[in-house]
Amino acid sequence: MKNERTRFLLSEEDIPRAYYNILADLPFELPPVLHPATGRPIGPEDLAPLFPMALIQQEVSREREIEIPEPVREIYRLYRPTPLIRARRLERMLDTPAHIYYKYEGVSPAGSHKLNTALAQAFYNKQEGVRGLTTETGAGQWGSALAMACRFFDLECTVFMVKISYHQKPYRRILMETFGARVIPSPSPETDAGRKVLAENPDSPGSLGIAISEAVEAAATSGGRLKYSLGSVLNHVLLHQTVIGLEAKKQMEMAGEYPDVVIGCVGGGSNFAGLALPFMRDRIVEGRPIRFVAVESTAAPSFTKGVYAYDYGDTVRTTPLLKMYTLGHTFTPAPIHAGGLRYHGMAPILCALYEKGYLEAVAYPQTKVFEAAVRFAQAEGILPAPESAHAIRAAIDEALRAKEEGRPRVILFNLSGHGHFDLAAYDQYLRGELPDYEYPAEEVLRALADLPRVPA
Ligand SMILES: *Cc1c(COP(=O)(O)O)cnc(C)c1O
Repeated sequence: MKNERTRFLLSEEDIPRAYYNILADLPFELPPVLHPATGRPIGPEDLAPLFPMALIQQEVSREREIEIPEPVREIYRLYRPTPLIRARRLERMLDTPAHIYYKYEGVSPAGSHKLNTALAQAFYNKQEGVRGLTTETGAGQWGSALAMACRFFDLECTVFMVKISYHQKPYRRILMETFGARVIPSPSPETDAGRKVLAENPDSPGSLGIAISEAVEAAATSGGRLKYSLGSVLNHVLLHQTVIGLEAKKQMEMAGEYPDVVIGCVGGGSNFAGLALPFMRDRIVEGRPIRFVAVESTAAPSFTKGVYAYDYGDTVRTTPLLKMYTLGHTFTPAPIHAGGLRYHGMAPILCALYEKGYLEAVAYPQTKVFEAAVRFAQAEGILPAPESAHAIRAAIDEALRAKEEGRPRVILFNLSGHGHFDLAAYDQYLRGELPDYEYPAEEVLRALADLPRVPA
């Protein structure tokens, strides 16, 4: 039977009751996380100054399903289940035999998928008596999500915002402040980490790596009053994002199709993982022949140009060492508009899957990305976040390949957020003034020389 539907909607009862933990199904061991001083595997007590115990346990849990707390599920009802939409008008515009579906996370009040984990993290912190959270934000998406989550769970919120974005994107700052957060441009004179960077380069545009250092320091020196919250990369963040893929699986079933290829943009990897991991289970456990494509920026090409090595998560070397594809913790990506993709590393779970051949990766420069974003907006009516537009670019190219080869396929991508706060970037693109930043080989080489040495 031919399915003519365009939007695949679930009801509130279909919001998942448990997150899906891929660690239960990985056919290999993840490399351990190492202590930055000793180079030995860390234990829960090492992370306790930064995270509540519930999240530390989730970080290493092997349980396949981890129950979503009811207060979190209740707030999910404000925007979940998110729609799965078949991009019929885009398909026609491209004249492709491919079927293109996207899961739209931009319907969340904060405008992106990031609220999925922000709410869970705020809940577990509140439950353990924490007074407030510190964090970093790039484009402001994560900061807005955490600011809202902190407000809903009655926590203080301090956000170190990458300085270039703080100035380029004042509206996100205002949104965070409306939710009651304190927003500080990073590098800032408020922390040792910030002061150190400013001493070396007073004009530093900042980076996620620097802002993380500041937020970690602010939590670690608060005497337990504040804890730190990270919006991507870590296992528990990817875990919370699996609500995206769990819903999408049901919705693809409603559509009577199954994806041949799953696509998502990657900064730290959480929105892509959120959509992909529940499908990855099908590939690992059931052997389904499904492809996974992670899309990054040529300005921060961790998968395609980085090395798989232990590295710090931040710039001034305060975090534990994670084994990941990295460009080096001292690398500062060019100030592209997709601020959420300006990160030197990548989620360890995705890195291990990439190394074992379960994922592909591709990198695009931002003009090609904005070209796809505008095409998508004109076909589907949604103005995508610059980050999400990387996934659109790859989905369009996949659909065009399907046409070229005369072989249909089902494409599913994650539209991780809307771009209503990124209109200045669109303006720059439409006026033909958007610069491309190619892969800065020499800077990366220099940064890779700074990788920590770890015992074999
Ligand atoms: C933060 C962000 C990203 C990148 O982060 P991931 O952890 O890789 O998902 C992508 N899209 C949007 C809309 C974001 O806000």
